[in-house]
Amino acid sequence: MAEPQYLSGNSPAISAFLDKFDTFLIDCDGVLWSGDHVFDGIPETIKLLQNKGKRTVFVTNNSTKSRKEYYAKLSSKGIPCQVEDIFGSSYSAAIYISRILKLEPPRNKVFVLGEAGIEAELASEGIAYLGGTDPKYRKLGMEPEDFAGIADGSALDPDVGVVLAGLDFHINYYKLAHAHGYLCGNHASKDANKSGKAVFLATNMDSTLPMCHSFFPGAGSASVVALSNMTGDQPLALGKPSQAMMDAVEGKFHLDRSRTCMIGDRLNTDIQFGVQGHLGGTLAVLTGVNKKADWEKADAPAVPAYYVDGLADLRG
Ligand SMILES: [Mg+2]
Repeated sequence: MAEPQYLSGNSPAISAFLDKFDTFLIDCDGVLWSGDHVFDGIPETIKLLQNKGKRTVFVTNNSTKSRKEYYAKLSSKGIPCQVEDIFGSSYSAAIYISRILKLEPPRNKVFVLGEAGIEAELASEGIAYLGGTDPKYRKLGMEPEDFAGIADGSALDPDVGVVLAGLDFHINYYKLAHAHGYLCGNHASKDANKSGKAVFLATNMDSTLPMCHSFFPGAGSASVVALSNMTGDQPLALGKPSQAMMDAVEGKFHLDRSRTCMIGDRLNTDIQFGVQGHLGGTLAVLTGVNKKADWEKADAPAVPAYYVDGLADLRG
């Protein structure tokens, strides 16, 4: 594996790097910002890339916001973009459910562990859902009849075909118990020819969420691993590094992969996504989760081709 090239402060190397690519897929959390704090020089850097004729696509695993909400956040921070240039794991999951799974009615509803961003993207694809932000599912504690209803399926919706797990800030035992009931097929008619189990999908497997210059539980830790542990099954994850997401991004933007670079802060999502997707390059930024020492380990999940201290260093 070639040594990653360090670009910060090296103007000729930055020029050569920029010349190699037409499209930059840019992760958001830990690259553009940490929570609500935008890193210095980020709007100017994105403008510079666009002024050079580069396409900037924002590819995020954060499932809590819809594309429209991301657009509002990017715009409010002075980062120029269009809704069409945003690709989130919620959108990726909605596309997968509507265009790949194509569930036959009536068993085509989605039980959601997640926030409004997931619901908005499911709605944008015309997918019926339950759970999510519905206050009914934000109940704390379990009554004896809750256990009984989930066990015999009477408290479950017979039309659920998918459980979609994402980052849910209101995760609780009640919701997890419903999701588990669907994944076990408690809600399905006892047809001997069908397992009746709902399909297990995850928006992403991120272990942590970078916020306020610190880290918090990510979707992978807060909801997905809990369900995996209960069922013994792994979900199909639709966020980075899943190549299902790369295929969806490529299909939407008609990328020339050899002229595309993935920019991100996390080796096991962003950089691995770019390497496995055979993109022309990957750029690690050191403003988020991973540091140089992480890709120098023998068991590093992926090694970037380039790195900078911060994205704004691309201004040269
Ligand atoms: Mg990130």
